Amino acid sequence: MQYDAIIIGGGPAGLAIASELSLTRRVLVVEKGIAGNTNRSWFVPLDVVDDSVRPFTYGGVTRFLANTYSGGKAQWNARQFPRYPYVDEKRLLPHWVDTIRVNGSEVLDQCEYRSHQVDADGVLVDTARGKFAARLLIDCTGYNSMIARQYGISRASYYWWSVYGAIGDHPNGLDGMQVGDYMLWQTFADTTASADTSLQQGRPLFEYEILDERTSFSLILYLRREIMTREFMEPVYNRIIREEASTSAFHGMAVKEIKYGWYPSASVSQELARERVIFAGDAACWTTPCGWGMSFILNNYRDFTARLEQALSADRLGRAELAAIPHFRFRERGEIVLNALMTHFLSNASAPMLDRFINLFNETSPNHIDPIYCEKVFTLDITPAEVHTVLATLLKEFHLKELFGILQPDDYKLLVEEAAAYVGESVVEEVRHWLHFGGDKPQNPERNSGFDFA
Ligand SMILES: Cc1cc2nc3c(=O)[nH]c(=O)nc-3n(C[C@H](O)[C@H](O)[C@H](O)COP(=O)(O)OP(=O)(O)OC[C@H]3O[C@@H](n4cnc5c(N)ncnc54)[C@H](O)[C@@H]3O)c2cc1C
Repeated sequence: MQYDAIIIGGGPAGLAIASELSLTRRVLVVEKGIAGNTNRSWFVPLDVVDDSVRPFTYGGVTRFLANTYSGGKAQWNARQFPRYPYVDEKRLLPHWVDTIRVNGSEVLDQCEYRSHQVDADGVLVDTARGKFAARLLIDCTGYNSMIARQYGISRASYYWWSVYGAIGDHPNGLDGMQVGDYMLWQTFADTTASADTSLQQGRPLFEYEILDERTSFSLILYLRREIMTREFMEPVYNRIIREEASTSAFHGMAVKEIKYGWYPSASVSQELARERVIFAGDAACWTTPCGWGMSFILNNYRDFTARLEQALSADRLGRAELAAIPHFRFRERGEIVLNALMTHFLSNASAPMLDRFINLFNETSPNHIDPIYCEKVFTLDITPAEVHTVLATLLKEFHLKELFGILQPDDYKLLVEEAAAYVGESVVEEVRHWLHFGGDKPQNPERNSGFDFA
């Protein structure tokens, strides 16, 4: 028997796409663990939650906070959306599994993908539970796609988020934290006690969400070229939640569930398809620089699947035809460039620089910046004029070499190249000019002469 499509990976991307495609097609989902079990937990912008997903969401982020070790603080209420809902992963993913089965398709657990062969008639997939044939293979295996590696697709130069944290119960209450709070970033005095210790050498970002009156989801994040292992992150997280003076509300927390994982940071893959094979979700790097992989899936799975359905109907399953299927429905403009630069700054700038950045949200700051821009950058919903405003303000506060001295110079080129893959060459042309990539070097990076916004 030949399936219309075999989907490898029973995570959110695989299950969301299969739940739609199985309405019209015979689909097989192949999962090496248990389909719908995940070590992740999500909140998403309100506008990606459609009617069918809404019943599987609850509460949400309503207030943003930022703290640094030297006392810099900012907080503001969500304005872009009234709330950013939490997705109940324990109900939504099993619901998709049930939907696929009710639609007459199949989900196979503990069925690891091994290899596949493509010929004129279709794809033959070899798994731990036997061989299966299909017209189309959809790779939804996440950040570490074996299928991409089998095609020789290199992701060696990508940036990766490494995350480790826990859902915790606070038997003694939340110590001033409110339900709906989202700590965007918190920094710590580093063990080296050096005032300008870069987070690159020291601590990761610490974030938390307050889910209800007793429950938090707190986590540490690294944004680096290399993957940080679970073994490396676990003691760092435990030290931060148990020993740091500024995390006292977490010291008595009872860990209910460990959450961890890895995902690409807008390392936009140009390799979105092969003959009868298409990548989706994290396997296609459907993330923004700051993450939002689940948001992309919720925002895109219906349109994406509708295009797959058309391709199957027309039997247009060649590499170029599949690669032409659009993957993204977020506004695809220059904001991705700003999102990339901001994300890398916020993740890897030294704690003192982050202090200065957070102070810009203070209304008494001479270079005050409205925190709504933070949300707008975060959600990729910022206009070119607003991008201009944000960059102009940043350049009043920071020297060019501070802003662009956090990563190796070549990495900024890489970021812009990645952004170009999202938004097109013409959009990033101006950014290249600002950054003097491929053109003149900044004449005097001590001054803000590279960017003439003011
Ligand atoms: C801790 C954490 C918090 C996050 N928070 C947010 C958030 O708040 N908002 C947001 O929008 N995004 C968030 N993300 C990102 C989001 O979780 C990912 O982008 C999303 O899970 C990607 O889904 P996916 O299905 O593509 O990949 P995955 O979730 O990685 O699923 C891949 C599936 O494929 C299976 N698989 C892999 N290899 C094989 C194989 N060889 N054979 C068979 N099966 C295989 C895996 O077992 C897995 O089930 C977070 C990520 C983490 C780690």
